[in-house]
Amino acid sequence: MKNPTQLGLLLLTLTAILVFGYNVYLRETTPPQSSYTQFLSDLKQGNIARVHFRGNVLNGEDTSGRSFGTFAPDLPTLLPLLLEKEVVISGEAGVTSGTGDWLKNVLPMVLFFGGWLIFSKKSFKSETGASRPTRFTPIKSERVTFHDVAGITEAQEELQEVVEFLKNPAKYSRLGGRIPKGVLLTGAPGTGKTLLAKAIAGEASVAFFSMGGSDFVEIFAGVGASRVRELFAEAKKSAPCLIFIDEIDAVGGRRSGGQGSGSSDEREQTLNALLVEMDGFSSEETVIMIAATNRPDILDPALLRPGRFDRQITLSLPDVKGRLKILEVHAKKIITAVTLDLVSIARSIPGFSGAEIANLVNEAALMAARKNKESVDTDDFEEAKDKIVMGLERKSIVVSEQDRRVTAYHEAGHAIVALLLKETDPLHKITIIPRGRAMGLTQQLPLDDRYTYSREYLHNRITTLMGGRAAESLVFNRLTTGASNDIVVATEIATRLVCEWGMCGAIGPIAYRQSVDSFLGDSMLVKPHSEMIARKIDTEIKQEIATCASEAEALMKKHNKFLHKFAEVLLINETMDAEEIDIVYRSYLKERELERLLLKENRGNDDTRKQSSNTRTQEPMEDIP
Ligand code: ADP
Ligand code: ZN
Repeated sequence: MKNPTQLGLLLLTLTAILVFGYNVYLRETTPPQSSYTQFLSDLKQGNIARVHFRGNVLNGEDTSGRSFGTFAPDLPTLLPLLLEKEVVISGEAGVTSGTGDWLKNVLPMVLFFGGWLIFSKKSFKSETGASRPTRFTPIKSERVTFHDVAGITEAQEELQEVVEFLKNPAKYSRLGGRIPKGVLLTGAPGTGKTLLAKAIAGEASVAFFSMGGSDFVEIFAGVGASRVRELFAEAKKSAPCLIFIDEIDAVGGRRSGGQGSGSSDEREQTLNALLVEMDGFSSEETVIMIAATNRPDILDPALLRPGRFDRQITLSLPDVKGRLKILEVHAKKIITAVTLDLVSIARSIPGFSGAEIANLVNEAALMAARKNKESVDTDDFEEAKDKIVMGLERKSIVVSEQDRRVTAYHEAGHAIVALLLKETDPLHKITIIPRGRAMGLTQQLPLDDRYTYSREYLHNRITTLMGGRAAESLVFNRLTTGASNDIVVATEIATRLVCEWGMCGAIGPIAYRQSVDSFLGDSMLVKPHSEMIARKIDTEIKQEIATCASEAEALMKKHNKFLHKFAEVLLINETMDAEEIDIVYRSYLKERELERLLLKENRGNDDTRKQSSNTRTQEPMEDIP
């Protein structure tokens, strides 16, 4: 028998046939039943010819030769009557539960329950299989490790610690430290959240429980909550282990706080159960939870509190280097041609997620197989890519070449202002990989935590923010909406500069506004002031931003070459870290140095003009026009 379902079905069918067949057999072989009173009256009238006893059951024939059957409750009173009427009597031992009855009563029951047990067990499993925690015991052959994950090194490094905790919980709890319980992985679909969670379990060789958030949510109140408890009970038994909850937003969305529909009540109960369970397990039970979502913004804040999912790791779409690494990981699984150029393939698929890359490799292998090739080459990849890109309705992010260019120049604009001005935070990372709603990102990291900000720093910060817009308008001669967030932040800084920090001469050190929160916090108190002051404040804010914007524009014009160079590098690399940024900057400085020397030779030393708009910036080579 192939599987239990088939066996169960077969048993059920057999029972049905057996019961049915036996009944037919009985009907055909047993004479028509008559009641005992009918039999007695027939007997008294002398109409009975012969009877045959089988225990209390008797069959017989009446005088006209018709057979009958009946059940005799008391034989002792019957026998004398039969003898009196001179009925022919025969009989056999009491077999009230003879083979026939056994067959009739017990065997079908056994068969039926056997079948039902097997069948129901199977169907129960297949019905709720997805929602029950599936335990993957660490089996070597299908074990996923960090080797299977590529291009998300940063996240991997952060999670290495979790692996250590799982491997050796005693080491960390020895001194009373609390082992973290929850990690939240955020990122677009297909960026490898599930894969990473599996890899952690694989690296640490612990059990892996996986469940989808939507599996908890049922129409019946309390079902989800009890599933949560069940899951944790199971997990605790096999601690140290890892629980993975995909799409946690299905349960972990913000609680409405009161009257909700039935299903949201149920959701809240489930979420509460989850919180209780997370708080519940002690440090001896090393159960680490990893949850995944692409909507961290809608999660209930209670989930993110310390002791729960207090570590957040974002997985973004891979850049060209990441894509290459993911390609390499998956290309190992297929037979590739020596000529296969993965680098150019990686370049040609901006915006592809890890899952899409895995799919691409697979499609390419199928393409090659269809053509009976010996190995998969670049052409197969090209064809597979076309098939995927054209066939795919890319709901996520379609990055057109023009958008990429605009973004690259925009981010380059921010970057070169930050590089050229002195009082700015060092650049940490620049990317033109779309993330969330942002098309690109320029990240600056302060050298040390700043608590105070100088006037110059704030001014340069606004100038840096204006750099993106300035670059766009210089190169493309038009403006896009890409700079809207820059404008929001710049306005906020300028407003506080004027109204809060007293850094503007026309207003003076009077706080017309006071932010309650820290830097760039949004709650504020406003000091009552006159219409005239309000107008003055507006003018000052506008003035401040306008100055910064024109400084940024001037920088773009002056360092046009640098801007183009930077943007080109960004277009190729998509992401640049601090080191790469430094390399590009240095090479630009060298070029300028060369130019300067050449100029000196050509013109002599008469070139000492200074540009007034840049006096405060102390650029490296200000004497060059
Ligand atoms: P998510 O959970 O973020 O939606 P998955 O982890 O389910 O994404 O990824 C789906 C598949 O895509 C994985 O099984 C793997 O084959 C491939 N994949 C995604 N990201 C990567 C990566 N960084 N390295 C290697 N393969 C990846
Ligand atoms: Zn910007």
